[in-house]
Amino acid sequence: MPFYDYTCLDCGNRFDVFLTYAEYGARPVACPACGSKSARRRIPRVRVAKSDESRAESFAGDFSDPSALAGLEDDPQAMGRMMRKMGNEMGEEMPPEFSEVVDRLEKGQSPEEIEKELPDLGEGEMGEE
Ligand SMILES: [Zn+2]
Repeated sequence: MPFYDYTCLDCGNRFDVFLTYAEYGARPVACPACGSKSARRRIPRVRVAKSDESRAESFAGDFSDPSALAGLEDDPQAMGRMMRKMGNEMGEEMPPEFSEVVDRLEKGQSPEEIEKELPDLGEGEMGEE
């Protein structure tokens, strides 16, 4: 059963209102202090979103350093490690093809070789949702 946080725009009073999901948005919310109907719901900060953001920042930080990317194309093993790290940072289960490619890169295969041996991969499929 949800409580909603409101702030009164007229007197600044902050209060909680108990509403069912059906009532929310359908029933006017009045400030208990002054009776004003100009109450606005306060949106709580979402912690998950914030941690995602900082994770994305640290992730972007890895790639903002040009030297970290330099030579990757000539070093499949480093590219494989980078891709594995990328997958871990995203915190999502990567598709089997992704792991397959990373494994092969880490074994020292070049992206060209992998492409030849895994014709199903198709260009631009990796990273799609
Ligand atoms: Zn008020």
